[in-house]
Order: sequence, then C-alpha cells, then structure tokens
Amino acid sequence: MKIDKNAVYGVYIHIPFCLKKCAYCDFASYPNLLSKADSYLEDVATEMKQYKGIYANSVYIGGGTPTCLKKEQLLKLVDKIKSTFLLTDDCEFTVECNPKTADYDYFCALNNVGVNRLSIGVQSFNEDELKLLGRAHNAEEAKECIQMAKKAGFLNYNLDLMFGLPNQSLLDFKKSIHDALALEPAHISCYSLIVEEGTKMCDMVNRGELILPDEDEERRMYHALIKILSDNGYEHYEISNFALRGMQSRHNNKYWNREPYIGIGAAAHSNIGDFRFGNPPELDLYTDIVKNNVPDGRETEKLTAEDKMSEFIFLGLRKTEGISKIKFKDNFGIDIYEKYGEQIKKFCGLKLLEDKSDTIRLTSAGIDVSNSVFCEFL
Ligand code: SF4
Repeated sequence: MKIDKNAVYGVYIHIPFCLKKCAYCDFASYPNLLSKADSYLEDVATEMKQYKGIYANSVYIGGGTPTCLKKEQLLKLVDKIKSTFLLTDDCEFTVECNPKTADYDYFCALNNVGVNRLSIGVQSFNEDELKLLGRAHNAEEAKECIQMAKKAGFLNYNLDLMFGLPNQSLLDFKKSIHDALALEPAHISCYSLIVEEGTKMCDMVNRGELILPDEDEERRMYHALIKILSDNGYEHYEISNFALRGMQSRHNNKYWNREPYIGIGAAAHSNIGDFRFGNPPELDLYTDIVKNNVPDGRETEKLTAEDKMSEFIFLGLRKTEGISKIKFKDNFGIDIYEKYGEQIKKFCGLKLLEDKSDTIRLTSAGIDVSNSVFCEFL
C-alpha cells in the first residue's frame, strides 16, 4: 500500500477508554482501564510516526471517551498529531467528549491548542432514558457541560442524540430535540437505537424487560426530527446528520465521499488508495501490531472496481444531495445506467429514488427504507 504524499487526508485517532460501559454499546471501549492509557498513547504515537509529513485537513479524536484521559495526556496527544501531520490552516479538529469527563479548564486547554470542534455525546435529555441507556451523566450535567464548552469558546459543536429508545414516546423525543436546540449546537447527529447482540440492553430486550417502540412509532420520531430541525434552520444533509449552514462535518463527509483517511489506534480503520484496513479492537493485539510489527493482525481489504462502484452509490446516497452521474462516469469510465440501470429504474418507479438532471438521490420514502435500497447495489 502506497501513501500519496500529495493527497490531503482525514485523521481518526481512537481512544478506547470510558468511565463505564453503556448498556447499548458494542464499540471498542473499555471501562476501568485508564491505568493503561499512558502505554496505549505511546503505541498511538509509534503508529503515527509512519505518517510524518502527510497533509491533513480533518482530525477527529474519538472513542470511547477521549476526555476520560487526563488533560495533560490529551494535550500531549494533540501536540503529537500537530508535529506529525501537516495540518491545513482550515483543518477541522474535533474531540469527542462526554458530559462528566471535562470541565471549563479542560475545554479552555483544548481550545488553546487548536481543537476547534467538539462532538458531545448526550443521547437524550430525559432522565429515565439516560438511566436505561446506562449513561454516566444525567440531563443537568449534560447541559452544564455544554455551557462550559461554550464559555470556553467552542461555538462549533455537535450533539449526539438517539431515538427509538425503550419506553420512549414521541413526546419524550420531541422534548429532547427542543432541549438540544435550546443549547444552539452547530450540528446534530441523531441515530435510531440498534440493539446489538451481546450488549446488556439486548439481554434485557430478550428477557422482555424492555419494550422498544414499534416501527411506525420509530418512523414518526424520525419524521418529527427532520421537521423540527428543518423548521429551526438545520440542513438535513445526511440520513442521520443535520447542520446549520456551513457547519457540516468535514470528518463525516470524507467517509461518505470516499476520500482518504488514516485511522490510528485500536479498532481504527483507514482508507488509503484502494485499501481498507483496520486495527484489532483488543488492546493487547493492537500493541503487538505496533510494537512487534505484526502486520497480519490487521484486517486488510483491497477494493475491486466493483466494490468501489457500489461504495460510491451506497455511501453517496446517504447524503441528501445524492450522487452525480457525471462523477460516476468520470471515476469509473462507465455510465451509471449501464452498470445499475435496472436498480435505478426499479427504485425510481417505486418513488424511492429520483433522477433529476445530473443527480440521483433518495426520496423521503426512500430514506425510510434506505438499507433495502442500498442492498440492491451491493
Ligand atoms: S460513552 Fe460511548 S463509547 Fe463509551 S460506553 Fe458509552 S456508548 Fe460506548
């Protein structure tokens, strides 16, 4: 795999530590392991070295909970990133944060070293829902955290919300949206809960202790989300993402636009040239790869032309602006109708896709069944 030194990359650094494990979480995140943070950060710094002098216009420190780290540890990591990559002047530099893990001083320190965007995991402003989700914070702490971030100078921040939660009503969800709006975030990401196998929540649902809203109610929540956020000036630019004008996430867009990105840390994935590769989520296996140079611990995939074409479609269709037929032809040297005419005509006939001038995009009805649409392009 060859790194193009002239390309501009996105950089993702994974911090796999959390205060506690949320009931629904199947991410690579480990509670009670902060004692390993120093050695983990050394591994991250070692892995990063190979990318010295690469241009980056987006950095995202995510997790896990990066702000679980001591302030000095996170600042040292930021410093390492700045001395490794050539960050563009307009580089979007995001740190993910959870309420209860950062205070005013912590935010001021991040702001001072050039972090210019926060992504704050709130998920809900309803106390019962937060307890069911097993979050480490309550609603008041979430609001205080956001106010401290604003006071420290962060005006560009994302709030994460969730819907389709156990026992959640449409009214409860609307109230959480309005609570979020009152805090004036530049960006809102809002995903429907997926109950993943092996999580505490999955066990509770299987035992009948938790009841999820039915599909119709879940869709009503999603439609309410779009309506309320649109009425309040947020552009619905991707299935689950909303932003004020000019505040779309560059980090997220890189993924949907299939632009190159470098993932560093346990469970982090990279997209470089025709290759996708990911580090293992287990900390000891990750250390093995970095310290002992055990490359076959990485999951690597070389994309075929076929893979790239279907990625272009199903990642691009996630964006409400849709995909460009001209760009498809420029990228792959073949007309999109020659390759996918059957599927496009079928979904246009069902009014799940629309084809207007150069653009093919999901309709509102198509967004509701987007996964079924994407499947037919795989
Ligand atoms: S804070 Fe996020 S990463 Fe950590 S356990 Fe909860 S959902 Fe998982």
